[in-house]
Amino acid sequence: MKNNKLVEITNLISQKQRFLITSHVNPDGDNLGSVIALKLVLEQLGKETVVVIDDEIPSCFSFLHSIDEIIRYEDGLDIDFDMCFTLDCSDLDRIAKVKNIIKSKAIINIDHHGDNPYFGEYNLVKNTAATAEIIYQLIDALEEAKLNKDIAAALATGLITDTGSFRYSNTTSKTHKIMAELLNYDVDTAEISKKVFDTHSYQSLVLRGKVLQNLQIDDSKKIAWVKVSQDLLSEVGATMEDTEGIVNYPRSLAGVEIAILFKETEEEIIRVSLRSNSYFPVDKLAHKFGGGGHPRAAGCSIDANLNEAIEEVVNAAKKELKQVR
Ligand code: 5GP
Ligand code: MN
Ligand code: MN
Repeated sequence: MKNNKLVEITNLISQKQRFLITSHVNPDGDNLGSVIALKLVLEQLGKETVVVIDDEIPSCFSFLHSIDEIIRYEDGLDIDFDMCFTLDCSDLDRIAKVKNIIKSKAIINIDHHGDNPYFGEYNLVKNTAATAEIIYQLIDALEEAKLNKDIAAALATGLITDTGSFRYSNTTSKTHKIMAELLNYDVDTAEISKKVFDTHSYQSLVLRGKVLQNLQIDDSKKIAWVKVSQDLLSEVGATMEDTEGIVNYPRSLAGVEIAILFKETEEEIIRVSLRSNSYFPVDKLAHKFGGGGHPRAAGCSIDANLNEAIEEVVNAAKKELKQVR
C-alpha cells in the first residue's frame, strides 16, 4: 500500500475499459464535482462509467452535468466493471454499502485527506485543498483528455465548496492557479456560489433561527455548539438538507476555536460536524469517535441519544483543548 505516481494511474486508465466511480455518503461539492469531472473525462476517452453513491444527492447540486446519471445504491445492484475509483474518501467505510458492489475488484483511491491510510490497490493521495485539484492534475496528465465547460464547472464546484470560496486555510496559490485556468472555460462561479451557499428554503431559514436560539458555549468560551433534533425538523417542516452550513454560525462566534453541530439523523444516531478556526485538530477528535476528516473540518457518527452525544463530544473537546493549549 503506497502512493502511486500520476503516470501509473493514467496507464491504468488506458489499459482498462469499464470503471465504477464512487464517493462518500453525505455528498458535498467536492466529491460530486470530482465524480462528475472524472466521469465526463473517462467518457471523452471512450470508456464506460457507472457512478454509484449510497446516499441522496442534495438538490443544490442539480446544476452539475450528468448528475442525474448517478445511481443510488440499493441491495442487489450488480454492476460489471474492471476497476473502481473512490474519490474524496478518507477511509473505505465512507462509501458505505457500495462496498458490496466492489467485492474484490481493484480500487484506485484518489483523495486529499491527511489521515487516508492508502486503502486502495492504487492510491493517489495528495495534500491539496480539494480532491477536485487532484482530478484536475489527472486530467492534465491524460494526453487525450480536454477540459470543457461542464468539466471545468464540476471541478470549480469542488474547489469553491472545500475551500469555502477560497477563505479556508487549505487554499494555496496552486488552488487559485487551477481556478484561474478553469475560468478560461466560461464557468459561472457567481451562479455556482449562489446555488451552493446562498439559496435556502424558507424552512431552512426558520430552522437556522431556532437553532441559533439554542447556541451553547462552554465556560472557556472557546467551544460553541448547536443541535438539530428530529422534533425540531418536524416542527419547522425542514429536512436534514436544510442544515447545510449551520456549523459555520458557532464557528463564526468571536473567540471560539471549536464549533460543533449535532444532528439527530435517526433515534440514537447522531451525526457530528466538527470545525476549528486556527489551531485545534478536529480530525484527531473525530478519530476518537471512529470518524475523521481534516484538521479544520471533520465529522463522525455516534450511536447515542442527542444529549448523551453532546455530553460525550463536548467533554472530549474540552479535555483535548486543554492539552493543545
Ligand atoms: P461535514 O461536517 O461537512 O459532514 O464533514 C466535514 C469533513 O469531515 C468531510 O469533508 C470529511 O472530510 C470529514 N468527515 C465527516 N464525517 C466523517 C466520518 O464519519 N468519517 C470520516 N472519516 N470523515 C468524515
Ligand atoms: Mn467531501
Ligand atoms: Mn474534499
